[in-house]
Amino acid sequence: MRDWNAMSDAAFREEVGAFFSAHFPQHLRTMTRYPRWADVKDWFQTLVAKGWGAPNWPRAYGGMGLDAGKLIIFVEEQERLLLGRMPFEPAITMLGPLLIQFGTDEQKRTFLPGILEAKHVWCQGYSEPNAGSDLANLRTEAVRDGDEYVINGSKIWTSFAFDATHCFILVRTAKSAKKQEGITFLLMDMNQPGIRVRPIDNLLGYANFCEVFIDNARAPVAWRVGEENQGWTVAKAMLGFERLFLGSPKHPQYALNRLAEVGRLTGSFEDPAFADRYTQLRLEVADLVSAYGRYADAVRRGETLGPDVSLLKLWGTEVFQRATEATLEAAGNAGAIAGDATLGAGAANVLSPFYTARPATIYGGSNEIQRNILAKAVLRLPG
Ligand SMILES: Cc1cc2nc3c(=O)[nH]c(=O)nc-3n(C[C@H](O)[C@H](O)[C@H](O)COP(=O)(O)OP(=O)(O)OC[C@H]3O[C@@H](n4cnc5c(N)ncnc54)[C@H](O)[C@@H]3O)c2cc1C
Repeated sequence: MRDWNAMSDAAFREEVGAFFSAHFPQHLRTMTRYPRWADVKDWFQTLVAKGWGAPNWPRAYGGMGLDAGKLIIFVEEQERLLLGRMPFEPAITMLGPLLIQFGTDEQKRTFLPGILEAKHVWCQGYSEPNAGSDLANLRTEAVRDGDEYVINGSKIWTSFAFDATHCFILVRTAKSAKKQEGITFLLMDMNQPGIRVRPIDNLLGYANFCEVFIDNARAPVAWRVGEENQGWTVAKAMLGFERLFLGSPKHPQYALNRLAEVGRLTGSFEDPAFADRYTQLRLEVADLVSAYGRYADAVRRGETLGPDVSLLKLWGTEVFQRATEATLEAAGNAGAIAGDATLGAGAANVLSPFYTARPATIYGGSNEIQRNILAKAVLRLPG
C-alpha cells in the first residue's frame, strides 16, 4: 500500500490531477444539477477500486489516510471538475469518521465496507419542520420494543433520501429530559414498510432533497451509535466534521475558476474593476485555503474542533456566493440563461452555480447561527 503522505505535495498533486483529468466522467463535468446516485455510482466504484474512495478515513478502514495537506490537494484536484455535492458524501465525510470514532466493532465491520462496496447509500436525517436551526427541538420519536426501536415522525430537507438505502437519524427517546439530553443517534434502513419519501423541487426546478415520513419503522438497538439519550454528543462531533467539510475551499475555488473562465471569454479582465474584484476573491480563497489547512491539521492530530471552526463555514459559503454573483454580472445578458450560454468565443453555464451557491449559507447550520456561535462561544459577547 502506498504511503501518500510520504510523497512530495507536487508529486501527489500531479498523480491525483492526472488521474482525475483522465478518468473523471464527462457527464459529471458538464452536469448542471446535483448528481444522483445512478450518475456517480460508477465513478465512486472507480475511486474505491483505486483505493481512493475515502481519502479522509484511516488506512485501516480502507481509506487513504491522507494528512490535512494531502487531503486538501485531493479535494482541490477533484473540485476543478465538479460543483455539486456527491450522494456518497454524507457517508464518506460524515458517517464514516463518526463510526470510526463512536461506532461499535460490529457497526464498523458492517457499515464501513457497505459504504465502500457501494451497497449502502446514506442520507442524513436530522432536520424536521420545526427543528432546523433549533435542532434540539426535534420530535421524531423512538420507543424501545425488545431489541428494536419503533420510530415515528418526519424529517425534511433530507438530501439524497430518494437514493438512500440507509439514514443516520436523530430521534427523541426521552421527553422529560432537557431537550438535548433526550436524543438518540440511530442507523435506519430506508427499505422497510413505514418509510415514505417525497422529493421537493429546488430553485433550479429539480429535486435534490426530500421529506421523509416515518410510520412505525424499526431500527435494531444494535444500530444505535453511542448510548441512549446521548445522541446529541455524537451528532455534535459530526457537525464538527461537517462544518470543516462545509468550510472547505472546494466550492469557492470552483466558482473562482468559473469566474476566471467567464472573465476570459467576455474579455472582462481588460476592465480594471473586474480585475480588482477577481483579485480580491482570489486572495480570499487563498486565505481560506490556509485557514482550512490549519483546521484540517488539527483534525488529523486528533484534536476536537472548537466553536471557532464556524468561521470557515461562514467565510467559505459567502466567498462562494460572491464569486458566483461576480460571474453572473460579468456574463451580462447571458447570465439570465439556464444551461450553457454563448459567451464570446465559447460557452459557459453561469446561472446554475449562482443558484447552487444560494442554499450554501443555509445548510449545515445557517450562517446566522454560525455568527451566533462565534459571538457567544468565541467572542463572549453578551447574549
Ligand atoms: C440544500 C440543502 C440541503 C440540506 N440537506 C439536509 C440533509 O441532508 N439532512 C438534514 O437533516 N438537513 C438538511 N438540510 C436542512 C438544513 O440543515 C436546515 O435548512 C438548516 O439547519 C436551517 O433550518 P431551517 O431550514 O429549519 O430554518 P429555520 O431554523 O426555520 O431558520 C429560518 C431563518 O431564521 C434564521 N434563524 C433561526 N434561528 C435563529 C437565531 N437563533 N438567530 C438568528 N437567526 C436565526 C435562520 O438563519 C434562517 O435564516 C438541508 C438544507 C438545504 C438548504
